[in-house]
Formats: sequence, structure tokens, C-alpha cells
Amino acid sequence: MEDCIFCKIVNGDIPSEKVYEDNNVVAFKDINPAAPIHILVIPKKHIATLLEVKEEDSYLISEIFKAINTIAKKLNIDKDGFRVIANCGKNSGQEVMHIHFHVLAGKELGDKIVG
Ligand code: 5GP
Ligand code: ZN
Repeated sequence: MEDCIFCKIVNGDIPSEKVYEDNNVVAFKDINPAAPIHILVIPKKHIATLLEVKEEDSYLISEIFKAINTIAKKLNIDKDGFRVIANCGKNSGQEVMHIHFHVLAGKELGDKIVG
């Protein structure tokens, strides 16, 4: 989608440090990391928010979590663990309107909101 920064990252118009890519999914380093390891995992397809994931796109969510599994092993964070966060809408503070899953790792993260 035009004017979407993550679509521009998908098609290479904006550079990024990619850590993973397949037919459906791209993962790259967050430009403003909140942890020693902070990766954004996104579908290549433009979907603005989690509320707009249609039935026919639901396989993409599965593909994203398969990618997260692969990335966790590749980046050696599978043993010590990591946190996955997805923001949706105003109260979450979602800034980029192309769905993305934050993968945070590399230290004890603390400050659990749930758990
Ligand atoms: P949100 O607040 O929407 O859940 O998260 C958006 C994330 O995208 C933020 O953590 C922000 O640092 C990251 N971000 C925004 N613009 C860019 C960019 O151009 N490149 C990269 N790599 N990350 C970005
Ligand atoms: Zn987009």
C-alpha cells in the first residue's frame, strides 16, 4: 500500500536490517529498539490492524508464528526466552498501520502487564 512505511520496507524502498524473509513474512530490526534484541515480524501483505485480519488471511498469522520460531532459533533466543507483543488501535499506542509483532529479547524483560 502506498504511504505505508512497512510496505516500503517489504519492497525495499526503505532500507532495513532484515533477519528473516519468506514468501509471506518479513522480519527486521526495530529502528528504535526497546530491548537488546527487538525484531518486528510482519506479513508482506498490507493489513492495517489486527481487527482487519480476514478469514482468508488467517493463515498469515500462523506463518508469522512459524517465522518467530525460526527466528528465535536463528538469533539464539530460544533458550533464554523472548516476548511477543502486538499493538492494536489507539489505547495500545499502535503507530504503524500495518500489522506487526514485536519480538523482544536479550535481557530479563520485567514489567509484565499480564502474568
Ligand atoms: P507500534 O507502536 O506501531 O506497535 O510499533 C511500531 C514500531 O515500528 C516502533 O517500535 C518503531 O520504532 C518501529 N519503526 C517505525 N518506523 C520504522 C522504520 O522505518 N524502520 C524500522 N526498522 N522500524 C520502524
Ligand atoms: Zn503496509
